[in-house]
Amino acid sequence: MKTAFITGVTGQDGAYLAQFLLGKGYRVVGLLRRSASSDQLGERLRWLGILNEIETMDGDILDIASLMRILQSVRPDEIYNLAAQSFVATSWQQPILTASATGLGPVYLLEAVRILGLPARFYQASSSEMFGKVQAPLQSETTPFHPRSPYAVAKLHGHWATVNYRESFGLHASSGILFNHESPLRGIEFVTRKITDGVARISLGLSQALALGNLEAARDWGHARDYVKAMWLMLQQDQPDDYVVATGRSATIREFCRLAFAVAGLNYEDHVVLNPAFLRPAEVDYLRGDATKARVRLGWAPETSLEALVEEMVAADLARLRG
Ligand code: NDP
Ligand code: GDP
Repeated sequence: MKTAFITGVTGQDGAYLAQFLLGKGYRVVGLLRRSASSDQLGERLRWLGILNEIETMDGDILDIASLMRILQSVRPDEIYNLAAQSFVATSWQQPILTASATGLGPVYLLEAVRILGLPARFYQASSSEMFGKVQAPLQSETTPFHPRSPYAVAKLHGHWATVNYRESFGLHASSGILFNHESPLRGIEFVTRKITDGVARISLGLSQALALGNLEAARDWGHARDYVKAMWLMLQQDQPDDYVVATGRSATIREFCRLAFAVAGLNYEDHVVLNPAFLRPAEVDYLRGDATKARVRLGWAPETSLEALVEEMVAADLARLRG
């Protein structure tokens, strides 16, 4: 039985990845940071019905001693570093925390692996936000980066640290440059989930309007359940490498609104209001990924259309609120 160690196991991707790995017969150990609101921890794992199937160990990505203690006792075959301050808007409010958790976190983990001399394979959760002010209409592994937020700057550090540990020390370390991926387990502050939750509230008469920022930004949205498979596939390769994971289809926030409100038989123009508070100091206007390398080398392809994703998210939010 293989053992996987997941940081960020309580997040959207961590929960789906844990579910996927359990399905493959893995022992799954997740990093859990202490919280005073511990009753809410593990909500996503509970939603997927796997909270009691994984093991958790106390620690923090910023505390290398805790990482070394855990790695020494767990001795995982595979390490997935998903822990991060992952919300772009917050990264302008807390740039130093973001630089620490998102940018230095991967280094603590890589350094722990190196010092302990573990043969574990390592996955780093990199992001399409690193392309930022895009240098090509379709972004691939060879497109130059131009980060537009403290989050993206920090992710670039994690990405290059992963490449550097691979090149310097021969670690089996891969970086997945994942484009936006969503699900019913997406954090409520992200625009997709904010919209589907808003649609559900309006449709149930709990609210009248939904305040958003820039509707013209475009994202390449996939389903988190599809994307965690790509993470695993990267670690099954003989050689570590970097891969873009994307659908190749880009849609605006406006289009996402149109689709989501339509699921509930509503017209978004009757309910969406603009609030400048949700505009960002610097915007990533357009992302569209070219996942040819992942398709050819990993045999990976997205399985969920944008329409199916939107429907699943609206249905889940309606069910939650009715419940
Ligand atoms: P989430 O925000 O849902 O989850 C983030 C996870 O990181 C949570 O489990 C959180 O724990 C944990 N975490 C944060 N700070 C620390 C810390 N100091 N120590 C230990 N754990 C910590 O993110 P997603 O699941 O959506 O994303 C997973 C990873 O992939 C992130 O690194 C994200 O930046 C990256 N990514 C995501 C994309 C997306 O579209 N979803 C796109 C590209 C990259 P807690 O529950 O305690 O807060
Ligand atoms: P990101 O791509 O990681 O920043 O994911 P988000 O879901 O947070 O944002 C995606 C896009 O939606 C960005 O271009 C935002 O500017 C835009 N957006 C517009 N209105 C909102 C809003 O109310 N909340 C969020 N989070 N994003 C918004």
